[in-house]
Amino acid sequence: MSRPTTLRFDALAAVKDSRARTNGSVSRVRLEEIFGENVFSLQEMRARLPKPAYKAILRTLREGAELDPTVADAVAVAMKDWALEKGATHYTHWFQPLTGATAEKHDSFLSPTGDGGAINEFSAGELVQGEPDASSFPSGGLRQTFEARGYTAWDPTSPAFLLEGPGGAYLAIPTAFASWTGEALDLKTPLLRSIEALNEHTRRALELFGTPVTRVRATMGPEQEFFLIDEEFAYRRPDLMTAGRTLFGTKPPKGQELDDHYFGSIPERILDCMNEVERELYRLGVPIKTRHNEVAPGQYEMAPIYEDANIAADHQQLTMTVLQRVARRYGLVCILHEKPFAGVNGSGKHLNWSFGTDSANLLEPGSTPHDNKQFLFFCAAVLRAVYRHQDLLRAAIAYAGNDHRLGANEAPPSIISVFLGDQLTDLFEQIVNRGAATESIDSGLLGLGVATLPKLPRHAGDRNRTSPFAFTGNKFEFRALGSSQTVSWPATILNTIVAESIDDMVTALETAIDGGKEFDAALADLLTEETRSFMPIIFNGDGYSEEWVEEAESRGLLNLRTTLDALPRMVDEKNGELFERYGVLTKRELESRFEILLEQYFYTINTEGEMAAELARTHILPAVNRYLSEILQAAERADDIGIRIDGLMRQAKGLAGQLDEFTKRIDHLVEQNAELGGDEIHEKVQHMQKNIIPAVAAVREVADELERTLPDDMWPMPTYREMLHIK
Ligand code: ADP
Ligand code: MG
Repeated sequence: MSRPTTLRFDALAAVKDSRARTNGSVSRVRLEEIFGENVFSLQEMRARLPKPAYKAILRTLREGAELDPTVADAVAVAMKDWALEKGATHYTHWFQPLTGATAEKHDSFLSPTGDGGAINEFSAGELVQGEPDASSFPSGGLRQTFEARGYTAWDPTSPAFLLEGPGGAYLAIPTAFASWTGEALDLKTPLLRSIEALNEHTRRALELFGTPVTRVRATMGPEQEFFLIDEEFAYRRPDLMTAGRTLFGTKPPKGQELDDHYFGSIPERILDCMNEVERELYRLGVPIKTRHNEVAPGQYEMAPIYEDANIAADHQQLTMTVLQRVARRYGLVCILHEKPFAGVNGSGKHLNWSFGTDSANLLEPGSTPHDNKQFLFFCAAVLRAVYRHQDLLRAAIAYAGNDHRLGANEAPPSIISVFLGDQLTDLFEQIVNRGAATESIDSGLLGLGVATLPKLPRHAGDRNRTSPFAFTGNKFEFRALGSSQTVSWPATILNTIVAESIDDMVTALETAIDGGKEFDAALADLLTEETRSFMPIIFNGDGYSEEWVEEAESRGLLNLRTTLDALPRMVDEKNGELFERYGVLTKRELESRFEILLEQYFYTINTEGEMAAELARTHILPAVNRYLSEILQAAERADDIGIRIDGLMRQAKGLAGQLDEFTKRIDHLVEQNAELGGDEIHEKVQHMQKNIIPAVAAVREVADELERTLPDDMWPMPTYREMLHIK
């Protein structure tokens, strides 16, 4: 019987070609020369703008002052000239709708003059305001499609940049996006509002400490993990292309999971690709600093130097976009899903976060933190915020993709706690026990026992990979984000909850001082009282252990295991009030976001359910049928000539049994897919969690067994071994 040629073997053959593929243009460049060349930066503005306009822009950037509308005229002219010189033909308002991706609609600079000619035009009006059709973006009921009007508004605090493709270039202008009624429909607007709240209340605190400043900034440095897979394989995995993750696939044998990939040398094609990603990002002013292999085969990480939160959030979006675009030039597909391969480590995103003035990081403890009252105050404010709003932080990272990671012994547990390390934990224990911290445990120098090696200053705390929220020297690291997630929403929550804590604590101090207390005494009392209440949030132990789950429960910490446990907390009374109090989101805006997140959960699982049923029926089932008929034919022929057929019959029976089970489970999945559980989104998501997820898992269980049973040349899809190990 002739073998059906499987797509898989075409893929393997094609990969040989693409492996040889590099972009050819890998000339050596001086990074400092290309850095920022595609950014309409302050430098460009200084060179191109009239002095008063430049000064006005500077005031907006440095002090958050409102921008004089007449300045926009000058900026529009300069921006257009710069973009045209760089070869741009179009401009776009670049924004972040609630899909989590970025959106852009291009307009040409070209304007016909009426006499057969044309000129390039770009007015202040076009710079400041755009009017995309809002009806195609999620609004969570804030807007009916017949009220489709939406506006984009120029964000002068994030620089415009040039995006280049082989066919041309266009100017991208970062903007906020709101409905005609003024409600935010994007991720940037609340982020900007939360940055403002943190600025306002931190400045009040600094005033009390006698160190007033004009501006406080939240800072972020997000680490991005991702997989790079050969596109020949990816294209032949409809699940990977449609759902972003494999819905079938048997895990590679144990030996291949060894940690030898982590920090291993980066394969050549991958390195070429990463180099080009970095060069593109440098041109866009994104300061990528580190890159390395990650734990899983085929998995890598990149991280920038930290920046202002708003710019860092835009740059994070650009990083994801550029990674995906450039990968294609190398015959690779960049996968940002948090769990593309079952049984293999998933991908996360670490959000390093702090806040500070132009000259100082307010979470820098210094060498004797017990003496640094201002640091203790701000650090306490963060701990208090995390303790009080565990629910919000958990909800900030709750979506279908991340459910595969959280609590799965490779990512933080779904319980929110803070790792502080020995030195700081000791300080807060002193505060609770003695009313003040009077000494700091010395971290000392790390001698390596070899005279020629330097003595390294030791960090005051060891690392703890299991903690969802860790103090790492002079910043906190929120480690539970998923790799595909935008950082804007978690950052918005962090800024807002810390702003609230600082506000509350400053108000308490002011009241005490008004009542006649000395500042130092008032501060000591406040810190003692606050520390006593937030102490349960500090946990330096193993977050993966079973004991922690019990211990956390006895401490009264929340354990919201799944997306559907966590999301509804977002709209609790306390959280609605919080966002309203700091002008970050109205209750309506918050509720609309909740609805959208539920819809996204529904679509994700619904797509997976449909995709799994289709793949099982159209890819896997026919292969199993073919194999069975092959065995039966062999048995028939063997019988004809009197050869023993017991072995063949055993195989046939075994396979027929698996086939029977497989078709039953597929039928069940198909039935479940046909139902939605109700008309309401709240009912539909329950159906997804209760019925679709287990039905997909049941089909997968047999499919993965079949993958281990079928002849290799009959298996229709690229395997984990091929996808993860052929580079
Ligand atoms: P690791 O993998 O050890 O956690 P990395 O060097 O990969 O460390 O990433 C640390 C990230 O933290 C970098 O993006 C860095 O710029 C960022 N970071 C450092 N200081 C701050 C700060 N004050 N605010 C925000 N992020 C910071
Ligand atoms: Mg990290």
